[in-house]
Amino acid sequence: MNENMNEKFEKLQPYLDRSVALGCALTLFNWDGETLAPRGAFEKTSKLIGALSAEYYRAVINDEVRSLLGELSAPKEQEKLTALQRAIVKKLLRQYEELEKIPPEEYQAYQELLSLSGQIWAEAKENNDFAAFAPTLKKIVSWQKRFAEYTKKPGMSLYDVMLDQHEEGILTAQLDEFFGKLRSAVVPLLKKVTAQNSRIDKSYNSRSYPVEKQREFCRFLAEYIGFDFERGIVAESAHPFTTNLHNADVRITNHFYENNLESAIFSVIHEGGHALYEFGVDDELTLTPVGGGTSMGVHESQSRFYENVLGRSEAFWKPLFAKLKETWPDQLADIELSDFILGINKAEPGSIRTEADELTYPLHIMIRYEIEKQLISGEIEVDDLPEIWNEKYREYLGITPENDKEGVLQDVHWSTGSFGYFPSYAIGNAVAAQIYAFMHREIPVAECLEKSDLAPIREYLRKHIHRHGCTKNMNELLTEMTGEQLNADYYIDYLTQKYTGLYLSRQ
Ligand code: ZN
Repeated sequence: MNENMNEKFEKLQPYLDRSVALGCALTLFNWDGETLAPRGAFEKTSKLIGALSAEYYRAVINDEVRSLLGELSAPKEQEKLTALQRAIVKKLLRQYEELEKIPPEEYQAYQELLSLSGQIWAEAKENNDFAAFAPTLKKIVSWQKRFAEYTKKPGMSLYDVMLDQHEEGILTAQLDEFFGKLRSAVVPLLKKVTAQNSRIDKSYNSRSYPVEKQREFCRFLAEYIGFDFERGIVAESAHPFTTNLHNADVRITNHFYENNLESAIFSVIHEGGHALYEFGVDDELTLTPVGGGTSMGVHESQSRFYENVLGRSEAFWKPLFAKLKETWPDQLADIELSDFILGINKAEPGSIRTEADELTYPLHIMIRYEIEKQLISGEIEVDDLPEIWNEKYREYLGITPENDKEGVLQDVHWSTGSFGYFPSYAIGNAVAAQIYAFMHREIPVAECLEKSDLAPIREYLRKHIHRHGCTKNMNELLTEMTGEQLNADYYIDYLTQKYTGLYLSRQ
């Protein structure tokens, strides 16, 4: 027994242990489904997953835990808890507040709808048939609104409730300002930049790069940025992603295309950034309910910091470019480092979010944010979506998607009920730029990269972000690190400086 033992918290412990264990089992099933499980397994395995999910739910959502949390949240009890215990109680209470207000039969009906909607969306996308998805999407939107109504706090809109679930405290008022600033800076910058695009030839990227060599090179890159192969593995899946059981079992995936050199390279750096976050969580926190990354926005800040801020910089590639050319001497024979840096940063408006470059990316997110906000407030209807989608692409990116498959049907998110999720991607980019601005003051970042010494960068991020798991939210982390909350100016300055430097000062 250590001095921090609290009798009431002790009673909570077995429930926490059980829920963490069941949560890990579910994570493993999910990982397996995405990587190695045979396709025929889906139907039967999904029954096992259903049963485990129900157990997981019961492990923490029950009367005993409810009453323990009630007692533990009283001020007198709070005083007796450690900071970690208080963070765990706070997190569980937040979960309770959301779940308790939703009648179980409604929750179940919604889950059943979601279990079908993925397939309906995938088929509609395949057949380029928005009308086939629209009725399901209408039901999802109506459930989402109903649930948000249950948990809405005074002064919040329904969409605020959805935003708050993904990034605590970042609501419409702040995002309107955030995207407003981005729009007025990025739209004109993009116009100037793309006017210069004829100078950049990146046809080298689609030459033939045998997959086996790509695998080797990407493994090297993962290790180079600090991915720990004693505590992590890299596998393959249709879309790259990161998952983890705890801080000593972190898994990422990659996907290789023979005729696309960049795709796997930047995917492994991106997922590697997510993985470093999970590796860096303190031992004391891992295997507790607050043992993972704090939010999707902060997670994306880490992956995009590695992928874009570091990985697409000249300093990063200076010590690596010779190795890249040795790996593919014929394919890259006529390519110099400066060509490669321009190539990997080429900004080109396109219809597909996941293929977007660093400069056009936030515009894809802004479009989704504006559409979601209007859809949830009732200003627009599901049936209007394809037309509004295309209008906004014309307005912000100057292009019209060829069809709905490349337009409004491209993303999986709405079919999973994830409204309010998209802004996290742009928040992640902005947080990465804000961190970079401050990291500079303490660490000579470019020098470290040129010396192939990434440890000081990794340690800085571990100290200020990773080790805290989700005991602090995004604005708490940012305030402690940079002295202020999320501020879009750093992101705008970063994009402006980077693209002006790359495109407009080298003519
Ligand atoms: Zn990511």
